Amino acid sequence: MNSEELAALDRRYVWHPFTQQQGWTAEDAPIIADAHGCTLRDTEGNVYIDGVSSLWCNVHGHRHPRIDQAIRDQLDKVAHSTMLGLSHEPAIRLAEKLVNLAPSGLTRVFYSDSGSTAAEIAIKIAYQHFQQSGQPKRTRFISLKDAYHGDTIGAVSVGGIDLFHSTYKPLLFDTLQAESGDIESMERLLTAYGQQVAAVIMEPIVQGAAGMLIHPNGYLRAVRQLCDEHGVLLICDEVATGFGRTGTMFACQQEGVSPDLMCVAKGITGGYLPLAATFATERLYESFLGAHDEFKTFFHGHTYTGNPLACAAALASLEVFDHEFTLDEVADRCIQFGELLKPLETMDGVAEVRRRGMMVGIELEGFPVAARSGHQVTLAARRRGAIVRPLGDVVVLMPPLSISEVELGQLVSIVVEAIAEVVESVPRQEIRISRTKVTV
Ligand SMILES: *Cc1c(COP(=O)(O)O)cnc(C)c1O
Repeated sequence: MNSEELAALDRRYVWHPFTQQQGWTAEDAPIIADAHGCTLRDTEGNVYIDGVSSLWCNVHGHRHPRIDQAIRDQLDKVAHSTMLGLSHEPAIRLAEKLVNLAPSGLTRVFYSDSGSTAAEIAIKIAYQHFQQSGQPKRTRFISLKDAYHGDTIGAVSVGGIDLFHSTYKPLLFDTLQAESGDIESMERLLTAYGQQVAAVIMEPIVQGAAGMLIHPNGYLRAVRQLCDEHGVLLICDEVATGFGRTGTMFACQQEGVSPDLMCVAKGITGGYLPLAATFATERLYESFLGAHDEFKTFFHGHTYTGNPLACAAALASLEVFDHEFTLDEVADRCIQFGELLKPLETMDGVAEVRRRGMMVGIELEGFPVAARSGHQVTLAARRRGAIVRPLGDVVVLMPPLSISEVELGQLVSIVVEAIAEVVESVPRQEIRISRTKVTV
């Protein structure tokens, strides 16, 4: 089928995620045919640097021989077998590996298939834990302003991005919201409501979907301490930050913090297949033990939970971390990234550049909302050979950890040119108060 036929069928039958379909049908989005390393190629033969790791999940590049082979080998054994009442080798071996890598104290792995489900599971475990541990009044959750934990109803309940979440308010359970990065706000809430709270849920260090908001140093550790003082569990959502994104395997490790529950997904399979895991401490796990008729069972499980192909991919991806010294290599790449981004800090039209490891947000300023400046930058970058995807007026850069020195240089140059083009061609407002500074 040629590109035009495919595009026509897409417009006729597909409803895309996070997409205003009315605009979509007027735009010519590339149809990706294949990929290699950090490069995507469309059906017309155009190549693009994968500047957002195919939505924050690719780690070692596309078609990595080791991961490809692991999936093929598993395919010759079994593609799917259930974890309900049965087990299989890839899930068992992966659980052991994950526990060895995770912050200390996280000893149990509950599988699911997306970041949203990993968050739902953490919320339900925290809630049920207190219900069956003699503290049934602990029913509430504290989340952070601008938080993102996924798109299912429970995950949206602890979300804090009005644009995505406010429509569903009547469907959501009530939560307490702390100012992000503000430890006093957290302390006030815990002092007032501590006895009613089951858990604090947060993205550690970097709030990704908020536009790469970076917490002040020590904030995560201070939240951990407050949770301990108030007998409240800490859930860290490492769906975006996990698997090397911030420079360490998990972001929590940068502040020496062990949460009670930890969610991972996106990067777990190297960006190959849908898989997620919720880690729990032994104490939480044990609170679910009991005779059958005590009904302490965790009644939760998705059909494709712990899928063998996905677990095989995840095992191979973790092997690649060892074989290719990925975390050592990425340290150099992070330094380079910081250097490359320096000129953007003073660039016309840029309010702020935020980076932690390989997670970058470039906040634009001065554009009216209707101009969709972030989207315009995306289109301008695409014409120059890079795929990026914005969050509102924030241009996100999150390439695979394996991106080469040359490719990273190309990616940043393309984005600089794209921003310059948009600054030149899209009229800006006279005055706009940005999150970080006032420009006149
Ligand atoms: C992407 C993301 C999720 C949701 O993951 P899905 O796999 O899209 O459901 C949850 N939490 C964080 C921090 C994320 O970045």
